[in-house]
Amino acid sequence: MVIKTTTRKISHIVTRPGRTDGDDDISIPVADQLRTTPGIPKRESDLAFYSRTYPLESQSIEKTADRDWTWTVFSDEVADYLNQHIETTKPMVDIAEVSADQPPTGIPDHAKNLTEDIRSKAKELGFGEVGFTRYDRRYAFKVKKGWVKFEHAICLALEQDYRQTQTIPSMEAEYTHYGTYEDENRLGIILAEYIREQGYRAQIHSPNDNSAAYIPMFVEAGLGQLGANGQLLSPHFGSRARLMIITTDAPVTHDTPIDYGIHKFCDICQVCVNRCPGRALVKEKVWWRGAEKNKLIYERCRPVMAKYEGCGVCMKVCPVQRYGMQPVMEHFVETGEVLGKDTDNLEGYTIEERGGYFGPGKLPKFDRKFFDIPHGNREDWLFEQFKEAVKEKGGLDGESLGQFGSKLSELLEVEDTSRGDE
Ligand code: SF4
Ligand code: SF4
Repeated sequence: MVIKTTTRKISHIVTRPGRTDGDDDISIPVADQLRTTPGIPKRESDLAFYSRTYPLESQSIEKTADRDWTWTVFSDEVADYLNQHIETTKPMVDIAEVSADQPPTGIPDHAKNLTEDIRSKAKELGFGEVGFTRYDRRYAFKVKKGWVKFEHAICLALEQDYRQTQTIPSMEAEYTHYGTYEDENRLGIILAEYIREQGYRAQIHSPNDNSAAYIPMFVEAGLGQLGANGQLLSPHFGSRARLMIITTDAPVTHDTPIDYGIHKFCDICQVCVNRCPGRALVKEKVWWRGAEKNKLIYERCRPVMAKYEGCGVCMKVCPVQRYGMQPVMEHFVETGEVLGKDTDNLEGYTIEERGGYFGPGKLPKFDRKFFDIPHGNREDWLFEQFKEAVKEKGGLDGESLGQFGSKLSELLEVEDTSRGDE
């Protein structure tokens, strides 16, 4: 491979704290051609309009039809492991649900700002990225709007294991994916306790029961930018992170968004877009609910995730995940190229059931039927099936109507819950 070595003009250098408590700061050079805007390009009026008129809803409520379907295609190994994960995390999700009602256990020092104390405690616990911002209710899920109590959001990212992540898609990678959420639930409880000891309240938003779309708040808190893979690309570990939030009434100072150059870099990189087995990622950015972003095609991703151990190829092949943002941006400044692009080291992955190893330029093939999954919530899907039955029989008959009625009554008994959306 010929490496170009023309150093590019640098727009600015981002300085971030080291990966763990006590590590030196890191400096990330952003090439002039990658400069856009801190955070993400936004249209505030559109964002306000969509959040008011079409509020976001938890996937656990809006997409129950395909969520039920996934359990019919999971391998036994995946299903057993997920059931075990749900059992393990349930007591912690229960604690989080009522955490806002827990009174403080210490006396507050009203003259003190707690930002750095909380940041340092969170770092000490193991959170690799910690930031502060306003809890932005415009991203809150409908079901959770009344639940969120305090105005400040502490954004916490916990890194999942590097080695296991590189085996994506695999059970090994699923162990670190869900295992990190289990650790995060536990660490969130400890951090909330610490805030209460300082004399303030803390509400834990369990990563198994999200209250909102979190990435925009992490971006506002300066912890990274949104990648074309739909994930937060954080400076130290890219998208190899699991996110959670704690809201609090403690006096803290908000961080500010940063331009890491990712918004433009993704337009040049495109590795995740080209490597996605489901062709679910889209090259061109669109304006969506007030932000300019690459929008994933859910229906093309979901079947691949369900059938192949959570897929996650878009996380695995991202150079920022694989090598870290600093080396990736330094390499771009020096060469104008994307570190690792077109190499097996970055782009290769294995899906045994679809033919084994797929190196750069090679993708598994699926027929149209593969992407045929139930849409919407359970009631929507039941009605679709009912319409099909009526069409097939050439009119309404008692049997179809009876079946529809009894299944609908069963569904109405099922309570909506936002749990299980990790
Ligand atoms: S999880 Fe897999 S199918 Fe879904 S977007 Fe990522 S790479 Fe594509
Ligand atoms: S793989 Fe490339 S295009 Fe995709 S998110 Fe990572 S940096 Fe952006």
